[in-house]
Amino acid sequence: MNKRTRRTVIAGNWKMNMTPDQAKKAIEDLRPLVKGKGRCDIVLCVPAIDIPAAVKAAKGSRIKIGAENVHFEPKGAYTGEISADMLVSSGVEYVIVGHSERRQYFGETDETVNKRVKAALNAGLKVILCVGEVLAQRDLGITKEVLSMQTKIALSGVTEDQLKNLIIAYEPVWAIGTGRVATPDQADEGNGFVRAAVAELYGKKAAEALTVQYGGSMNEKNAAELLARVNVDGGLIGGASLVAEKFAAIVDAAQ
Ligand code: PEP
Repeated sequence: MNKRTRRTVIAGNWKMNMTPDQAKKAIEDLRPLVKGKGRCDIVLCVPAIDIPAAVKAAKGSRIKIGAENVHFEPKGAYTGEISADMLVSSGVEYVIVGHSERRQYFGETDETVNKRVKAALNAGLKVILCVGEVLAQRDLGITKEVLSMQTKIALSGVTEDQLKNLIIAYEPVWAIGTGRVATPDQADEGNGFVRAAVAELYGKKAAEALTVQYGGSMNEKNAAELLARVNVDGGLIGGASLVAEKFAAIVDAAQ
């Protein structure tokens, strides 16, 4: 298994943007732009309130719908939370887990990320697990250690068979929403560190088969160069996923 045979996945993260009506319109605008037999998978991770409208608007197209988070308990007194089964029964196929904004603003830890990964995989969702170093860690020269630790804790208790439903997004925190994109070398190296950590857990073959995305200010201008790198199997895209033409251009760059 190598870059040519690994699945390329271009995923958008809408964050807290778009009302249901806007979501419907955005997907209707995107559909004709990504029509056809492309070689990459296309996912839009949308706010929970937009899920019904997004699933309906994407029906019959290449676009799969994802959520931006999931709770780890199956049900109960967790006001404001959404379970994996609720997502599955709403037509959601993917879910982002461990995004740096969840870690930074909502107290997400490596341990709760691990619980969410397991709950989502056990429910049959495909998980986009986010890992990434903050600038101070990069400056200290500990990026490899940080990525290895985050990856290993997040995957604790995940079986090798479940890796087929797992994507890891390497997202250097200093590159998210800042316009400061990692260089292709930095992206390739970070993705390689993630793959090496997976190899330590499951062996080289399993790690080589895993889709590892890059995320952090990827856009229609820099995507081709980033996606050409041997360890970069797709992108997780925030800002540029909100504009149909920009997102479609990134999909084009991937195929
Ligand atoms: C993200 O939200 O995961 C992300 C990479 O955002 P942006 O593309 O805006 O940097």
